[in-house]
Amino acid sequence: MTLAQWTEVDDYFNGLLVGPDEALDAAVEAGDGAGLPAIQVAANQGKLLNLLARLQGARTVLEIGTLGGYSTIWLARALPEGGKVVTLEADPAYAEVARANIERAGLADVVEIRVGRALDTLPELAAQGHGPFDVVFIDADKPSNPDYLAWSLKLTRPGSLIIADNVVRDGEVVDGASEDPKVQGVRRFTELVAAEPTLTATALQTVGSKGYDGLMMALVTGQAPESR
Ligand code: SAM
Repeated sequence: MTLAQWTEVDDYFNGLLVGPDEALDAAVEAGDGAGLPAIQVAANQGKLLNLLARLQGARTVLEIGTLGGYSTIWLARALPEGGKVVTLEADPAYAEVARANIERAGLADVVEIRVGRALDTLPELAAQGHGPFDVVFIDADKPSNPDYLAWSLKLTRPGSLIIADNVVRDGEVVDGASEDPKVQGVRRFTELVAAEPTLTATALQTVGSKGYDGLMMALVTGQAPESR
């Protein structure tokens, strides 16, 4: 199978199940126009995030890694009246693009963008009493994933869902000798999730217009492993 075939299949399903969307399409266009890397989730993955947040009955979402706000919009749309997404972005220029995209989508009141390295803004969030969040979406610098897991555990409650993107990395995740810090970040993250008694998790490989990668989903049980 090739990327072209995966893309054609994505297009088929997206055409029937996801559809065009003015605000989301404009967000991608604005990101491209501003020179942002096209590393946002695919449309069907954005819809999956939206469905997961709805299944969770989420009112609050923490996103680590905003880029142009594409996944942020999908997540924010899942929330009921009064819901809130806090999204963390290191790059001020990306955050500005996201701000405009989120405003265009009519979600300015729902989304708070915090600019700065997430390892600086996460402690601030905790100190300010934010959380527990119902959903956490980890999608920033992969070497920091182990730290993001620790913060996610602090900022969630039993019943919360932690989702992490890009955990397969073209299959490189199985290479323990990889010198890629992103691969090592994802491997350590996975080992920590596996060893954490208050989580139960799975990971799925994905193919599509964005290539070969995968998603991890971990439910915070707050329980000992025998009751997972
Ligand atoms: N979630 C976005 C989406 O699907 O639309 C894509 C996020 S992109 C894969 C990763 C983002 O994380 C980039 O915008 C990058 O600037 C940001 N980032 C990288 N390192 C970061 C850090 N230390 N703290 C916060 N954001 C960071």
